[in-house]
Amino acid sequence: MSSSSTSSSTRRYNPSIQCRCKLPVRVLTTRTLENPSRRFYVCPNRNRRVGKHCGTWDWYDPELEHDWYRFKLFDMYNLLNLQQKHQQQAEMRHEERIQELTHLVNKSCTCLTFYKSTCFILVFVLLVAMLKG
Ligand SMILES: [Zn+2]
Repeated sequence: MSSSSTSSSTRRYNPSIQCRCKLPVRVLTTRTLENPSRRFYVCPNRNRRVGKHCGTWDWYDPELEHDWYRFKLFDMYNLLNLQQKHQQQAEMRHEERIQELTHLVNKSCTCLTFYKSTCFILVFVLLVAMLKG
């Protein structure tokens, strides 16, 4: 199995199975059409650049017998993944909009403070002019 056909965002280990290095194996999940969402385990040193790994590798889950389940699982995972991506994009747009609005409010407050100060000075100057005149 090539590493490009697998994905796993979390690091999961199973201490009840040890590789030939005597370490708890790392459990990963493949997302290929042939084996959608099927877990397998490997030596935890597999992706380390320094040092060697023992090459331990085997399926953790049994193979799905019928293609129909395989395709269905593959489709369901992709659909769920797509929905999660859309949701994340929507959340990012909301965050950006909140930042824009916060910036506008802060800018407006700065302008308001400036106008208040200017009005106060004008009233003061007018009062002084009226008192002198
Ligand atoms: Zn090992």
